[in-house]
Amino acid sequence: MSFAMQVRGELARLNEERFCCRKAELAALLALNAALQENEGQQWLVAEFENAATARKAFLLIKELYTLPVSVSAEKRKRFRKTRVYQVKSELDEACSNMLRELGLINAHGQFKPRIRWKLLTRNCCKRAYLRGVFLSRGFISRPEGNYHLEIVLHDQTMANEVQKLMARLNLEARQTERKNSLVLYIKDAESIVDFLATVGASKALLDFENVRILKSMRNNINRQVNFETANLVKTVDASVRQIETIKQIVDSRGWEGIPPGLRTLAQLRLEYPDSSLKELGEMMVPPLTKSGVAHRMRKLEDLADRIMLGE
Ligand SMILES: [Zn+2]
Repeated sequence: MSFAMQVRGELARLNEERFCCRKAELAALLALNAALQENEGQQWLVAEFENAATARKAFLLIKELYTLPVSVSAEKRKRFRKTRVYQVKSELDEACSNMLRELGLINAHGQFKPRIRWKLLTRNCCKRAYLRGVFLSRGFISRPEGNYHLEIVLHDQTMANEVQKLMARLNLEARQTERKNSLVLYIKDAESIVDFLATVGASKALLDFENVRILKSMRNNINRQVNFETANLVKTVDASVRQIETIKQIVDSRGWEGIPPGLRTLAQLRLEYPDSSLKELGEMMVPPLTKSGVAHRMRKLEDLADRIMLGE
């Protein structure tokens, strides 16, 4: 199951207790999934859902809030792949039209023209419930293991602007872009996605998201540590190559006798163990030398090589 499905599943099973919020959520579910259809001389309100739990939610909200006769049925359909579509259906009688008008879904001519009816969303609890309905209908979220991405796909410029405005009022900043014939509102940073999940009440998904985020940042720290160690190793090897050249210059022009006895053992160890750090070379000496002691002697060798080069 995809993470998006997991989030939608959680949200579909979340039941609002407040009357005001339930209306707001139903308004969003119908705005984005319903249409008016004529069948055998009769007008119907038909809402289609791919998720059974969301269909059930819409069905129960219509039935409980407006006591309208409503039915739900499932049908197999072939779109890109075989999918099951759940249809929530109610006869478009006067009571049903009143519901649609109250929820801001039909215009003065009785045409289905869904808009956000801000009067229904004066409270923040209702704004959150509406946004939940929007995400249930058109939301997508990527698995937190990959890139952080949450989006809402809308097909109508007015609705896209209104949902963006709604999100802004809930302190959620979404960007808008066009994709084929759709308008996409999206959020790309993890903090804002967490805020979104908290706002719509997806608390289990939020915890899962945060856990993955913590694991990822720990892994990044480990990578940083490994990079740091690699960089140090490269530094050691670079220095070693330079030191070996220095020693070879001296030996070429003066022979091993040209190197004072106090520095000779170290020079020999350097040639023999090119990958070892100064600290490790110091530990091989008898008696052992500290890292700074070794560094001091290396500088003396370099001085010597410089003097030889200058012909002293
Ligand atoms: Zn409310």
